[in-house]
Amino acid sequence: MEDVIRTVKVKLDVPEGRCDDLHQTKEQFLHCANTTAAWAWRHPDEHCVTSKQQAETALYDRLRNETELTANLVQKGIRRAIEATKSGVARLKKGETTSQPQFDAWSVVYDKRSATFHRDHVSLSTVNGRVECEYVIPDDPEETPIGEHLLNEEYEFRMSTLQYDRSTEAFYLHARMRRTTDDHEQSAAASSDAEHRTVLGVDLNVDGSLAVTSTGAFIGNADEMNHRRREFEKTRGSMQQTGTRSAHLSIQSMDDREHRWIQDELHRASNQILDEARNHGCTHIAFEDLTDIRDRMAGAKRFHAWAFRRLYEYVEYKAEMLEIEVEQVSPAYTSQRCSKCGFTHERNRGSKHQFACQKCDYELNADYNASKNIARKLLKRLHSGQKSSDGGAPCQCALTSGTLNLNGGFTASVDSTTEGESTDKPTTSVVGH
Ligand SMILES: [Zn+2]
Repeated sequence: MEDVIRTVKVKLDVPEGRCDDLHQTKEQFLHCANTTAAWAWRHPDEHCVTSKQQAETALYDRLRNETELTANLVQKGIRRAIEATKSGVARLKKGETTSQPQFDAWSVVYDKRSATFHRDHVSLSTVNGRVECEYVIPDDPEETPIGEHLLNEEYEFRMSTLQYDRSTEAFYLHARMRRTTDDHEQSAAASSDAEHRTVLGVDLNVDGSLAVTSTGAFIGNADEMNHRRREFEKTRGSMQQTGTRSAHLSIQSMDDREHRWIQDELHRASNQILDEARNHGCTHIAFEDLTDIRDRMAGAKRFHAWAFRRLYEYVEYKAEMLEIEVEQVSPAYTSQRCSKCGFTHERNRGSKHQFACQKCDYELNADYNASKNIARKLLKRLHSGQKSSDGGAPCQCALTSGTLNLNGGFTASVDSTTEGESTDKPTTSVVGH
């Protein structure tokens, strides 16, 4: 069935005192778009840049540092400018005259990552946290676009824009709504999704390997990052004591150098995680919840919290282009649970990076074990969020786990196991058959 897409304009009831957050968000969003346009538009000296990925690689870090926007809004600003650059290039090719795109209209792009759309309100990400805005629904919405599409459960929200009308001083959501297909097609789509659901689990560490995946990839070097970080701090400390102007300047450039080095390292790690996901046909990547890591992860410093968040953001925005979903799961017991038999005990860890199950004697790298548990948690969540088409088999849980074979290769396996158990035995069974 063909997609039906409608745009519905609905006025927002913005809470007292939060209008300024939306205006600031718009300013910074346009800053991202205009900075990107100035960078990408190179006519007539050079070819303009029309690759989103190239633009994000070049500008994302800078714009994240220059603004208080969430990762997603920075990315949307970059993409909006690249889209405009592409249209400009198309016009040039047709022999029309045009110039560098400029963004000054009041408009911010929101999708499901930067906004949560509900039938009666929307939660928007801003420079100052989220703002919840009720829709102003007319008394008799039937036969209006609001009644027919916005309030209609058959329509789902797509990428939308927030706009502002200066004359009425009011904010409007231009909600793009897409009609979902009928029930039969929906369940067919859901079950084919389920068959292809493959989760890559990622465990992050403050020492050893920065990231370990459920496919057995050991990525990045957290020890090296810590070492570099300490070296930078040492040099900075001794220089600050000399207190001269030239020393001050070198400290500033060192800050930049340190920043750049670590960001490069995090970019490399994120690319490797995405390569793993792509090579194994993953539809999802699971990280543990990154809030409060300083409280629950031994040795985690502010620096690690920052680095983990940044790595997650890199993976998230790069994954979007590959249509891979990235999610966080609760970290509870992921390091204590045996990924083979499901036995969970705090003594299951032999040494720091070695896991030894007290019940089944399974031994493996502790971070690898944890990453498999992280993958399993998301898969369970994805599975429980969908109706079983065979009337609900009791507590069946699909688990995609990565197993390393003797020659170091990876065997992707989807096994249907009972609650609390998992095996690494490759099987061909899938959920929803
Ligand atoms: Zn075990």
